[in-house]
Order: sequence, then C-alpha cells, then structure tokens
Amino acid sequence: MTLAFNKVAVIGAGAMGRGIAQIATQAGSQVWLYDAQPEATRKAREAVCQQWDKLLEKGRLTAEAVAGHKARLLEATSLQDLAGCELVVEAIVEKIEVKKAVFTDLEKVLAPSAVLVTNTSSLSVTAIAAALQRPANFAGYHFFNPVPLMKVVEVIAGLKTDPAVCQRLTDYARQMGLTPVNAQDTPGFIVNHAGRGYGTEALRIVSEGIADFATIDRILRDQMGFKLGPFELFDLTALDVSHHVIESIYHQYYEEPRYRPNVITAQRLAAGVVGKKVGDGFYKYE
Ligand code: NAD
Repeated sequence: MTLAFNKVAVIGAGAMGRGIAQIATQAGSQVWLYDAQPEATRKAREAVCQQWDKLLEKGRLTAEAVAGHKARLLEATSLQDLAGCELVVEAIVEKIEVKKAVFTDLEKVLAPSAVLVTNTSSLSVTAIAAALQRPANFAGYHFFNPVPLMKVVEVIAGLKTDPAVCQRLTDYARQMGLTPVNAQDTPGFIVNHAGRGYGTEALRIVSEGIADFATIDRILRDQMGFKLGPFELFDLTALDVSHHVIESIYHQYYEEPRYRPNVITAQRLAAGVVGKKVGDGFYKYE
C-alpha cells in the first residue's frame, strides 16, 4: 500500500507531538515539527533522535534507517514552512479557542486538499471544525502517551467529516504500526470516557478519606492488572492536560454529577504540581 500521507506536519512539540512525529517519520513520511516556542521544537527533535540512537544501540534499528529517519524529521520555524503538507496533526494546549485559531491560520497556508486533525483528548471535533472553511477535511486523531509504545489511536469523525478522510487516516494509522479504532465525536471519545470511572472516582475515594492515592495505585496495579494506577497516570499525563480534560467532559455532559471535577487536581494545577514533567506530582521524580 502506498503511504497515505508523504508530507506531514506536527504542531506542538510537547509530550504528544514529539511521539507522533517519531512514529510518522518511522512510517516513511517527511515530517515537520512546529511549536510556538522554537526551543521546544529543537529539544523535541533532539529527544526523538536520541530515541533512534538508543534503538540503534539495542540493534532494533539499522544505522541506515536511523540516518534516513533523522534526514526526514525537520524543524519548522513558521506555519508557512508547512505549506506543502498533506496532513497536519495538532497537539497543542487543550483549549478550544487556541486550537481553532491555529487551524484557521493553517487553512490559509495549506492546499485545499490538506487533511487537518486534532489530538484533542476531550474537545468536540465538530465544534472545532465549525471554525473552519473545509470541515470535511477535518477529524480527530487521538493518540496515547507515550506514543511510540501505545498501540491504539482513536479516529474521530466530526459531523461534517468526509468518510474518505477517516479511511485515509485509518490506513495511515496502520502504516505507523497502530491499531485504529473508530470513535464517535462524544466527550472523551471512548478511552477518556471509560477512564472517568478510573480517574475521577479514584479522586473521590481520596477526598472522602477512604484510601490514600498510593494505596489506590498499588491495588489497581497489583490486583486489577493495570499497568499504571490512576495517580501514576495523572503524573504521566500531567494535570495541565488532564484537569482540563476532566472539566471539559463534565461541562460537555451538562454538568453530569458522575463526571464532576475534584478540588484535589484543581489545587495541584494551581500550585504547578502537575506531574512527572516538572519533577513533582502525586509522586516526586528526580
Ligand atoms: P504539552 O504541554 O507537553 O505540549 C504542548 C506544546 O504545544 C508545548 O510545547 C507548547 O509550547 C505548544 N503550543 C501551545 N500553544 C501553541 C500554539 N498556539 N502553536 C504552536 N504550539 C503551541 O502537551 P501534551 O501533553 O503534548 O498535549 C497536547 C495535546 O494532546 C492536548 O490537546 C492533550 O489533551 C492531548 N493529549 C495529551 C495526552 C497526554 O497524555 N499528555 C494524551 C492524549 C492526548
């Protein structure tokens, strides 16, 4: 099968963007990374190259493959650099107005046939598309953290998405080595909706004094077979992402009490104690 997208851009070079750029490059695409902070773009590209060097050391990639990947992963310094891209994956801050503004700017520089996707965890794909001139070419493409290790990606059609666009994204997901799952455009899609029982309920157990967070993590790992407990997952995802996701799902479901956010994550977010990426979360990191 020919590659579904040869030229791909990833906007936002944080935890998710760098992982998406890595697997898209590995699939054979030419990939441009772009971040509002040029320093973040440079650091992300460096981190991905280090991953490939490690895979080379372990004998899981050849020197030729690593050289090819590095040559195909480029840093963009402005949206103009992305003009020739066939697919743009957005992985920036989880705020709808900021995402809409980026997509509106992108539509001005890209060819009309370009496909735009959002890696949003919880926002409505249809609502973002409403700001665009070509909603048929827009979809959700929801990856999981850490991207190079996780197998699933949710492919989400908005109300006006062309089914052919979803098919192309599904094909590309397989070319990146992922298992695509079609999800409806509902708050949290499948994984983050099902995850309400896991994260929000665990917070409630802590706030009611039933058990502390470390005990909940340990039990869910050891007894229920989860790879990470809910608080370990909060730390990995980071509260500046997951608290916004919790709030967004709650509001989109018209303040459904089951999904009510918790002051624990609100306070920790306000204090900047957001998780592993800052070395301090529910747990401490060196
Ligand atoms: P992050 O904070 O690690 O990275 C976001 C990056 O976007 C930052 O480098 C920031 O400088 C950049 N950015 C912000 N505004 C920008 C703009 N207007 N233009 C260009 N760059 C901009 O965040 P993340 O964890 O990578 O999450 C990104 C998106 O992916 C969010 O929508 C989040 O909900 C979603 N997501 C996150 C996870 C997770 O576990 N962290 C999982 C799935 C989906």
